[in-house]
Amino acid sequence: MNAISENLSLVRQRLREAEQRAGRPEGSVGLVAVGKTWPATALEEAHRLGQRDFGENYLQEAIAKQEALSHLAIIWHFIGPIQSNKTRPLAERFDWIHGVDRLKIAQRLSEQRPEHLPPLNLCIQVNVSQEASKFGVALVDLKPLAEAINELPRIKLRGLMVIPAPSDDFEEQRQSFRILRVALEQLPIPSMDTLSMGMSHDLEAAVMEGATFVRIGTAIFGKRTRNPNTLEG
Ligand SMILES: *Cc1c(COP(=O)(O)O)cnc(C)c1O
Repeated sequence: MNAISENLSLVRQRLREAEQRAGRPEGSVGLVAVGKTWPATALEEAHRLGQRDFGENYLQEAIAKQEALSHLAIIWHFIGPIQSNKTRPLAERFDWIHGVDRLKIAQRLSEQRPEHLPPLNLCIQVNVSQEASKFGVALVDLKPLAEAINELPRIKLRGLMVIPAPSDDFEEQRQSFRILRVALEQLPIPSMDTLSMGMSHDLEAAVMEGATFVRIGTAIFGKRTRNPNTLEG
């Protein structure tokens, strides 16, 4: 077995065990393979092994891979920061957008979503930490934002997404994810069925708190050696 095949098996095993421990049905947690910095050939290998959902952070890098892999049936997730002047390619090329935290971005995505495609699946990024973070809507502002986004005709509001401050402590990890779960439970919007939370180092805690998508890069493709921040977006 090569590295990706071995790693993907291990991640699937971790997911099955976490689902079991959480008392959740097998297969209830979706796996988004995060390919940032990795070449299209690495994604193609994961696809050959049955992986269908792929996440990318940087637009130019994502478009290059989408073009290289256009012969494959892939569900594309955009999980990176969004610049308001770059929404059109997101609306045209992706199935899911995970990190929206402003109404203006959602409005542009709705206006720019092509008619021949289904409404764009969208998650609102929430800031669950006390410190002011650059990204994510504050909990107090979540409900009005969700209600406004829910009115947009070409958007399907699916749920919430979080990138908590990294922690090695399982209970601390759970606490951030629990805040997101409770926030979702308190929103009265029926289409919101998604919790996008959990990465390589904390997927078990996320599954315990109800994650429906985990976003996994390192544990599938290996440690990133290129600094993703130097890639153009
Ligand atoms: C890079 C990234 C991931 C994957 O992180 P790993 O620790 O490599 O699993 C998940 N979500 C977002 C938003 C990311 O930027």
